[in-house]
Amino acid sequence: MGRAFVYVILGGGVSAGYAALEFARRGGYSRGELCIISEEAVAPYERPALSKGYLLPEGAARLPGFHTCVGANDELLTPKWYKEQGIELILGTKIISADVRRKALVTAVGETISYKTLIIATGARALKLEEFGIQGSDAENICYLRNIHDADKLVNAMKSCSGGNAVVIGGGYIGMECAAALVTNKIRVTMVFPEKHCMARLFTPRIAEYYENYYTLKGVTFVKGTVLTSFEKDATGKVTAVILKDGKRLRADMVVVGIGIRANTSLFEGQLVVSMVNDGIKVNGQMQTSESSVYAVGDVAAFPIKLFDGDVRRLEHVDSARRTARHAVSAILEPAKTRDINYLPFFYSRVFTLSWQFYGDNVGEVVHFGEFTNSSPRFGAYWVNKGRITGAFLEGGSREEYEAISVAVGRKAKVTDMAELGKQGLAFAIQE
Ligand code: FAD
Repeated sequence: MGRAFVYVILGGGVSAGYAALEFARRGGYSRGELCIISEEAVAPYERPALSKGYLLPEGAARLPGFHTCVGANDELLTPKWYKEQGIELILGTKIISADVRRKALVTAVGETISYKTLIIATGARALKLEEFGIQGSDAENICYLRNIHDADKLVNAMKSCSGGNAVVIGGGYIGMECAAALVTNKIRVTMVFPEKHCMARLFTPRIAEYYENYYTLKGVTFVKGTVLTSFEKDATGKVTAVILKDGKRLRADMVVVGIGIRANTSLFEGQLVVSMVNDGIKVNGQMQTSESSVYAVGDVAAFPIKLFDGDVRRLEHVDSARRTARHAVSAILEPAKTRDINYLPFFYSRVFTLSWQFYGDNVGEVVHFGEFTNSSPRFGAYWVNKGRITGAFLEGGSREEYEAISVAVGRKAKVTDMAELGKQGLAFAIQE
């Protein structure tokens, strides 16, 4: 039993949706030659909505409203759209093995799907507590957040917990965004993480202090510098408390776990070159893997960043998923016309009424600027390495201001006087 396609997109997440749109815009395939295979039961959607609009107590985002590619203010790709475009959606289908030499994938029910060109868009999975030696994370009131199934579980848990207590494990963006959503749903939140401050991979202590104070005013309690060791459960298996390494016991009506992700590369282990640095499938500037008929995009791909002198990075951000997907399709359909990708890393988050954007790399010396105030905050930071801007962060900026900091990072703007840069703040980027 088997089917054959010219182009197969493996994975049905953000990058799959943007790749499909690019195929449709460029043509270059005939009806029935292109398919998307996804373990998920629904057509590709804008994953970031799951920790934002999807969790709102009123007027929550629901499908089909946030299928790709509305996140980039582009077309809404509903299942009907795929049908009209002659792109087959093979949903609810997990691929359990891949053979890149034979150009074949095998589904969980034993069907073989072959391809001429494969785009790997398998993204990443949430790390589970079990991987850190903690048992019991399958309880009905312990939630992770990677897909719509997880989001539905979280929404149900919140509904049965109104006025109660939630413990959020992890101080990264999933933890921060979920904590904000829980508060909005009238649930008391305690955040627990081992680092000294939230968003430790990106925020400076000063930036983190601002958000932690803001969250504290919203009623969130922070327990830092420790980790969870076990759960207390009732007779039905529901978690009732969280026990921490420092001995604390936190009452919990529900728990949200956001402790990082791992790229879904296992199908291709031993077959494609994997980047040693950050566990992604290594690709060149055309998003092509070590096997010329196989491309990789989105969270699973480790690709060279020109801005960082060709350093190979695996990014876990939606903008990178959208752009690498489009780039791969361009490289597949028009290789001669497609230059190597020139990508400026970009990441954003929105919590409560706050909203920030970050561009580039957070290496070098940091200079803060702006108003770290509670009413209309507008502040940020530049990272400066070897006399050049390498990264920039801005909270509360306008479109033009975000554009200005992105340009300053993209041009590696020269900095001669750090004190002056701090004084000028945003004006430095705007004048650039
Ligand atoms: P995904 O969107 O994860 O898609 C992978 C797809 O592959 C899934 O459909 C999966 O089911 C499928 N798949 C995997 N293995 C198999 C298999 N063996 N067989 C079949 N199908 C398979 N980024 C930002 O920049 N800003 C944000 O604010 C932001 N918010 C986020 C909020 C949440 C809750 C989450 C989870 C992520 C957020 N991100 C954000 C990150 C962003 O969503 C990801 O970078 C993006 O989704 C990556 O796209 P992708 O296509 O590579 O992977």
